[in-house]
Amino acid sequence: MIIKGQATVVKHTGSHYMLSALPGWELFPAVLRGKIRLKGSSATNPVAVGDMVDYEAEVEDGGTVTLENPAAVTAVHPRRNYIIRRSTNLSRQSHIIASNLDRAFLVVTLDFPQVKLPFLDRLLVTCEVYNVPAVIILNKCDLYGPEYDQMREAFRDIYEGAGYPVMEVSARTGEGIDRLTSVISGKTLPDGTENEEYDPCRPYVSLFSGVSGVGKSSLIRALDPSLEPRVGDISDAHEQGRHTTTFYEMYKVQSGGFIVDTPGLRGFGLVDLKKEEIATYFPEMLEASQDCRFTPCTHTHEPGCAVKDAVEEGRISYERYSSYLGMLEEEGKYR
Ligand code: GDP
Ligand code: ZN
Repeated sequence: MIIKGQATVVKHTGSHYMLSALPGWELFPAVLRGKIRLKGSSATNPVAVGDMVDYEAEVEDGGTVTLENPAAVTAVHPRRNYIIRRSTNLSRQSHIIASNLDRAFLVVTLDFPQVKLPFLDRLLVTCEVYNVPAVIILNKCDLYGPEYDQMREAFRDIYEGAGYPVMEVSARTGEGIDRLTSVISGKTLPDGTENEEYDPCRPYVSLFSGVSGVGKSSLIRALDPSLEPRVGDISDAHEQGRHTTTFYEMYKVQSGGFIVDTPGLRGFGLVDLKKEEIATYFPEMLEASQDCRFTPCTHTHEPGCAVKDAVEEGRISYERYSSYLGMLEEEGKYR
């Protein structure tokens, strides 16, 4: 008997994929049949975690799909969005980390390891480029005594000012975890309001990213104690060109929603951004630039530049502008 269906890729190991028809969670193995390539994609992995695929399987009556008799992926549906990383700084090859994401949670701390704003800004730009709404999680807030007040306020001003929600949480004490749980389930928006479009039949998928030590695994365990996120720095293996397979994996959160963890991922790469494009991925600069005298304007030396005016008047943060200048300068190195 031939079974045909649609399912989401939730895991990729060296030899096969695991699929599940989300929001259900009944995993079954599959392999690729023939050449599967999504038009226009130069990624080294044709199928990524989060992809919706068509599959077929041949099973005996009453039988099931097994590792010995896996289903076959026959097609990949177009991706709503995805997050990519370059394989190395020099190569043009890229690897899709995950696709069809509702949100990317970028986890940072003011304590150890202290967040580096230019790094965070790069992640935010990548999220903008690939159309994944970003939320900043400020973890370890149990450690922020009064001596952190100023830094914390400055941080919130910069990122909320740029339009990004900032959620303060503590994986250790549980502060803010209920709210985060609700956002991950899809029922609540990051600003705390109800998601009026919430649909229980739709899988809500969130990416977790952040440098090692910020508390990603602790947070995932705080969201669902039954989860055991993988630890270790897998991006190193990737960088050294070893087998580029089991990297990312989707987890089901008991209270609703799905998480893709990216252990050890130091950042995701920018792919092919032109100099004049970069500012358009800083939402607050894009908005201000409508009033620049020249188009295109690099917002550096041009007279009548509304972005520079906004920076001088404090409507755009100096830190964000300075990250932008850093990216402009380095742009040549990306390609
Ligand atoms: P990951 O590398 O991002 O997965 O980080 P881990 O979850 O392994 O956490 C790194 C370290 O930070 C561990 O020692 C955790 O106990 C600690 N940690 C994580 N979350 C918190 C938190 O909310 N508060 C405090 N004080 N420590 C935390
Ligand atoms: Zn300008």
